[in-house]
Amino acid sequence: MIRVIRGSEPEYLSSKYVRSVKESAKKFHSSSRNSQIRWKVDTTVFRYFEVFDGLQRQFNGKCAYCESFLGINSPATVDHFRPIRGSLGLNGDFSSEHYWWYAYEWKNLYLSCALCSQTKGNRFPVDGSRCRPSTPIDKNSESILIIDPCGEGNPGDHLMFGEDGRVQSLSREGELTIEIFGLNRIALCDQRSHELKRFYENAVLHFSIDFESVLKNALGNGNSYLQMKYQAYAKWMSDPNYYLKRVPIVNGTKFDLRAEELRKVFVPTLRKYDWKPTPSLPRNWLNISEREDKTVEAQPLEVARFVERIEIRGFKSIKELNINFSGSNADGSSWKIFLGENGVGKTSLLQALALTLSGPNVATDLALNPKSLINENSKNASVRVYLSGDKIPIDLDINSQGFFSNSTFSGLEVYGYGAVRLLGVENSSSDTRAQRIANLFYATKYISGISDWLLGVDESKFNQVVRALRDILPNASTGLFVRKMKRVIYVDRGAEISLENLSDGYQTTIAMLVHLMRGLLDRWPTLDVAEGIVLIDEIGVHMHPQWKMRIVSNLREAFPRVQFVVTTHDPLCLRGIKNNEVEVIERREDGYVWRRPNLPDIESLRIDQILMSEHFGLSSTLEPTMEAAMKEYQLLMSKRTLSQDEQASLNQLREKINSASLFSRSRRERLAMQFIDEYLAAESLNHKEQDLSNMREITKKKIADIIGAKREKS
Ligand SMILES: [Zn+2]
Repeated sequence: MIRVIRGSEPEYLSSKYVRSVKESAKKFHSSSRNSQIRWKVDTTVFRYFEVFDGLQRQFNGKCAYCESFLGINSPATVDHFRPIRGSLGLNGDFSSEHYWWYAYEWKNLYLSCALCSQTKGNRFPVDGSRCRPSTPIDKNSESILIIDPCGEGNPGDHLMFGEDGRVQSLSREGELTIEIFGLNRIALCDQRSHELKRFYENAVLHFSIDFESVLKNALGNGNSYLQMKYQAYAKWMSDPNYYLKRVPIVNGTKFDLRAEELRKVFVPTLRKYDWKPTPSLPRNWLNISEREDKTVEAQPLEVARFVERIEIRGFKSIKELNINFSGSNADGSSWKIFLGENGVGKTSLLQALALTLSGPNVATDLALNPKSLINENSKNASVRVYLSGDKIPIDLDINSQGFFSNSTFSGLEVYGYGAVRLLGVENSSSDTRAQRIANLFYATKYISGISDWLLGVDESKFNQVVRALRDILPNASTGLFVRKMKRVIYVDRGAEISLENLSDGYQTTIAMLVHLMRGLLDRWPTLDVAEGIVLIDEIGVHMHPQWKMRIVSNLREAFPRVQFVVTTHDPLCLRGIKNNEVEVIERREDGYVWRRPNLPDIESLRIDQILMSEHFGLSSTLEPTMEAAMKEYQLLMSKRTLSQDEQASLNQLREKINSASLFSRSRRERLAMQFIDEYLAAESLNHKEQDLSNMREITKKKIADIIGAKREKS
C-alpha cells in the first residue's frame, strides 16, 4: 500500500442525475416503511466512464490496498472504503446506519482488486464512536483503525515487506489492515516475492550499464507493489552488502562485486531520488523478515475467509484435480460455477470441499463411510484447501481408518445443498455444522424446520429474510410477506397465498434459502454483511427458464459477501456469470478429471438465439451490463454531433459490443448493423415521421451500397 493523493472529483458526480440518485438514497433511508425492501445502489454511477476512468488514473490502474495490477485476470472493483450497507467494528459491534450517504462520494470510492474488497467486506473499525449519520466526508473526524491509502500518513510507517513477499505490521493499524484486507494471501505473497526477485535480477544485470534508469523504471508510479520495492531499495542504500547477499547468481553467473564498487554507483543514485528508510522503522528492521512470525489471534469478525484453491487426490471419481478460485468478480462477490457432463465429478468436488472445510468431526457426525469416499484405484484420498488469509492450507486425509485433518480454525461457515432438495416435515430447531452440509451427502436429509423458524424469528430478521426472498423469487418484488394465523403468507395486490400452497419449485428453493439465511443470521447482524461459503449442486433444478437466467445475479445481490460454489449443466444458469467464474471440467479416458483451458467469452455466449422462442417468453437475454452498454451506444449514435469525449466513449462501446459478438464479425455486416442502429436510435428518440422516412431511404441505400461493394469484390 502506498499513499495516494486525491485528485479533483469528476464532474459527473455533481451532475443532475447523480444529485437525484443521492436524493432518493436519502429518501429511502428516512422512510420507515422500507423494512421489507432492499436499498438498490445505482452502480451505473461508478461504472460511468468518467468516474471509472478517473479512479483508474487516480490509482494508476492498481488496487489501492494491495497494489496488484488490475486487468483481464484481476478485474477492477470500485470499493467503498467506508462500507455503505452497515459497518462492522472490532469485537463484532455493528452499525446498520453507517455509511449509506457516502455511496456516491468521490472520496469514498477506491479502485480495488476483487479479493481485497471482498475480504474486507463490511469491516471498518474505528476507535471511539462513529460519526453521526449524514456527516459530510470532509468533516468526518473518526479515528480509523485501518490504514487509509488516501489519508495523511505514510502506509510504509505501518507495513514492512519481507523477502518472501509477506508483509508484517509495525503498528496496530498495520496489523488490522493486513488481516482485514487479507494482504498475506498466498497468491499475493507469491506474486510479490516473484516481482522482488525480478527487480533484484534486473538491477544486477544492468548494474554497471544503466542503473539509474533501472531504478526509474522500477519505482515509477505505474509499478505494482511499490511500497515493497521502496523498502527493498532503501535496504540496499543503507547496506549495499545486503544486496550482494540476496542475489549473487543470475543466469548462472556469479556476480562478485565488492561492497565499495557497489556503494560507488548505488548510494549516489539512490540519494539523488531521496529515498530513505521510513523514520519509524524499528532498529532491527533489516532482519525483520527473518524474525519469528508473530501470530495474531484475530477475532472471528476481524477476518474473512474464502476458498482460494483446492487440490483433490483420489476422492470418489476424482483421481486428481486442481482448481484456483482467485479470480473473483468486479463487484466484489465471488462465484465459481462448474459445468460438466453428469458423472464427471462435480458433486464429488463439492463434497470434498464441504468435508475439508467442515472438518473430520462433521464427517463422523454424518456417519460417512470413509471407504466409500476413496477412489477405487487409490489407497487413500486427500484434499487440500487454501483459504484467503490463512498461512497454512487445510489438509483432509481419508483412509480406511477414518478422517484426519490439520484444521484448527472452527470459525468457517459452510452450507451444502445437493441436487435433490426436498422440504422436510419434521421440526428441527437445532442447526449443527453437520446439518448445514447433510443435504449434499444424503438426498433424504430434508431441509427442515423452516416454517417454524420463520414464525418464531424476531421482526427485524423476518424482514431481512423477506427482503432477500423478494430479490430472489421471480415476480415477488411487488408483494409483501406477513405472518398470520401461524402461517407465512404472501400478499400481492389483495391476493393471499401461503407458503405451503406455492409450487414445488418455489417451495424447495425457498426452503433452501431460508435454511441458509437462518444459519447466516444466527451469527451475522444482517445479510448484507454475512459471510460464508455456500455449495449448491445443480443450481437451476426446480426453476423455470426465466428464473434460471436471473438466479445468479439475484443471489449475488441478496448475499453480497457470500462465496458461492455451484454446479450446473444448464446453460441458462450462466447468465450473470463472469468469464473467470466458470470452470468446465471433463474426464479424460484414463480417468483424470481436468479443467478445460481457454474457454470462450462466457458473457457473450449466444444462448439468446436458442431461447428467444416465444414459449419461453423471454424479453431480453442480454446481460444487464451489456444491455446498459447497448442503450448508451444507441443514445450516442442518435446524436448529430459528438464531443471528443463522446466520440471516444462511442468507440469504446462499439468495441465492447463488437467483442461480445452482438454484431456479426464481417466488416460488411458490421457496417450494415451500424446503419440500422443509427436508424433505430433515431426512431427510439421520436424523431419526426418525415425525418424517419428520409432516414429509412438513406439507410436502405447505404446498405445496398455495401452489398454492391461486396458483389464487385467477389
Ligand atoms: Zn487488492
